[in-house]
Amino acid sequence: MNFEKVYFEPAALGYELGGILRRELKDIPWEPIESHNRIPFMQNKPNKEFPHMKRSLIVGVRKTHAYMPNNKTSDYLVPYTSSGCSAACLYCYLVCNYNKCAYLRLFVNREHMLSNIIRTAEKGDRDLVFEIGSNSDLVLENMVTGNLAWTIEHFAHAKKGALTFPTKFDMVDSLLPLPHRGRIIPRVSVNPGEIIRRIEIGTSPLTGRIEAINKLAKAGYPAGLLVAPVVLLSGWQKMYAGLFRALDEGLFPQTKDGLPVEIIFMTYSYVHRMINAEAFPGAPVLYDPDIMTVRGRGRYRYGPKASAEAERFLREQIAEHLPRAEIRYIV
Ligand code: SF4
Repeated sequence: MNFEKVYFEPAALGYELGGILRRELKDIPWEPIESHNRIPFMQNKPNKEFPHMKRSLIVGVRKTHAYMPNNKTSDYLVPYTSSGCSAACLYCYLVCNYNKCAYLRLFVNREHMLSNIIRTAEKGDRDLVFEIGSNSDLVLENMVTGNLAWTIEHFAHAKKGALTFPTKFDMVDSLLPLPHRGRIIPRVSVNPGEIIRRIEIGTSPLTGRIEAINKLAKAGYPAGLLVAPVVLLSGWQKMYAGLFRALDEGLFPQTKDGLPVEIIFMTYSYVHRMINAEAFPGAPVLYDPDIMTVRGRGRYRYGPKASAEAERFLREQIAEHLPRAEIRYIV
């Protein structure tokens, strides 16, 4: 990844990972900041600077550790080693949370965060599942910090529990030989090639993601498939039929067997519209007033008619191309 500059909290250098990053990224300028949460000169930049801001890396110490209960694929959403991302998917939900400051922030106090998870897992009366990738993409982050590999190796000592994370990247080779014990659940997110190229800017291509699922499953990880987010651009039926054909042809038969599938429709917002119009003027327009409804406070979602039609179509595609997969939910 080509970062231009690192902004860092001086306290981060007191941690092992802070020191490692300082040495490994010594060829780019490092500038101290007071807090990773408050960087006024970044917050005040115009929207058109958004892609360029993603070339900055922020290094700090995470102070908020509250777990959010979750009832989809995990028991808790856990703030973990990063937030934000250096890719730029035009719908990224992190943009809603951090506005144009959705650049990659790394938190160096990983020992503290992982030992909290292990302690909570071991106190559980059953195997709790912790979603550690809801604020960033950990496979991408792993390329800078090695944190995902570090996490898997250290979680091998936990007596109970499981960790899960979604990804839109294919750089999984370093994870394959690790002692995951079936307690690490990667969920690879896919979309039609055209949507990846034009909307999921800076992420891995579809072929690479399909290969990544095969590799992870072959290495014994209980890998899952996320079809997310479903984007109903003009011609979506043709695009998604092509996606399921590619999955059918590309996934190994043993990967397809019992493959857990989650399907999530895109949500969008007024904030995305404003940033994307100025930062990516040639990109497809994702707001479609004919099929979207307002969901509250400047957020949009597909209306019931459009999503019911798309859900029917996607279920038919899965029945035809991935008949032994298990649809976990469609939202
Ligand atoms: Fe956001 Fe994930 Fe895309 Fe990164 S890869 S920009 S976290 S949606």
